[in-house]
Amino acid sequence: MKIKKVRRTFCPKCNKHTEHKVGMNKTTGKRGTLKKGSVARAKKRGEGVGYGNLGKYSKGAITSWKRYGVKTSKKEALKITCKECNKSQIRQNPRAKKVVLE
Ligand SMILES: [Zn+2]
Repeated sequence: MKIKKVRRTFCPKCNKHTEHKVGMNKTTGKRGTLKKGSVARAKKRGEGVGYGNLGKYSKGAITSWKRYGVKTSKKEALKITCKECNKSQIRQNPRAKKVVLE
């Protein structure tokens, strides 16, 4: 899918249509393995068991209940930045195998 680098669309801050710069939304970093969410999840796995190691760390992470690798396309998020006020917003793109900015 080809997407133009400049798009004229609504800006909520200016409250009107303005020129926007379109770029890819880059996600950086990964979630920590011992951060609050993962620790809470590990505890949750052991709830209601009551014996053994409470299902903490000996078993691998559960992956099979989500069907990974089934879809061949992605819904790539685009970051558009207003040229007048410099405010940016994230827009979801329709499904596409490949997104090319031109
Ligand atoms: Zn604006």
